[in-house]
Amino acid sequence: MGGPELERLINLFAKLPGLGPRSARRIVLKLLRERETRLLPLAAALQAVAESVRTCSICGNLDSCDPCSICAAPAREPKICVVETVADLWALERALIYRGTYHVLGGTLSALAGRGPEDLAIAPLLTRLQSAPPTEIILALPATVDGAATTHYLAEKLKPLNIPISRLAQGVPMGGALEVLDEGTLATALRARRLA
Ligand code: ZN
Repeated sequence: MGGPELERLINLFAKLPGLGPRSARRIVLKLLRERETRLLPLAAALQAVAESVRTCSICGNLDSCDPCSICAAPAREPKICVVETVADLWALERALIYRGTYHVLGGTLSALAGRGPEDLAIAPLLTRLQSAPPTEIILALPATVDGAATTHYLAEKLKPLNIPISRLAQGVPMGGALEVLDEGTLATALRARRLA
C-alpha cells in the first residue's frame, strides 16, 4: 500500500512520542490531502530546523543561534535556573514568571541507570559559575527520587561558592517532569521556591 516512500514516512511518524502506526497513517493522509497548506510547509520547516537549530554552548538550550536568544538577551537577570531537559526550560519560559538564564543538565543522577555526575553537564555549570557568578541558582529538577538526589548533590557541590541556592517549592507532583505541569502550577512552585 502506498509505496516505500510513504511506508518510510509513516514509520518515522509512528516512532514519535505520543504517536503510533494508526495516528501516523492519519497524519500522513491528512498531509497528502492538504499538500499545499500542510505537507509542503512542514517539509520546509523540518528542513530549516534541521539546518539551523543547534545546542547553545552556554546553557544547552536549542535555538537557531549560539549563544541562544535567552543567553544573548541583555535584559535577563543574572540568575541561573538548573533544569533536567530543554523541554523543562521551555515549560518555565511558557510560565512567563522567570526572567533569568538556564542550565540544562541533560538528565539526573541515577544509580539504577548508572548515570553519574560526569554524564551530566555539571562540569560546564561549575566553569560557568566561576567565570560569571550569578546572584541566585535555582534547582528546578523533577520531583522524582533521582531528581531529589541530583538536587541534593548539586546543593552540596555548589555550597562552597557562596551563591544563594534555592529549589522549587513542594506542590510539584511527585514523579512529574516539569514540562507536563500547567503554567500556573509551575509559576507557583517557582514563586514559592525556598533556600536549598
Ligand atoms: Zn543559552
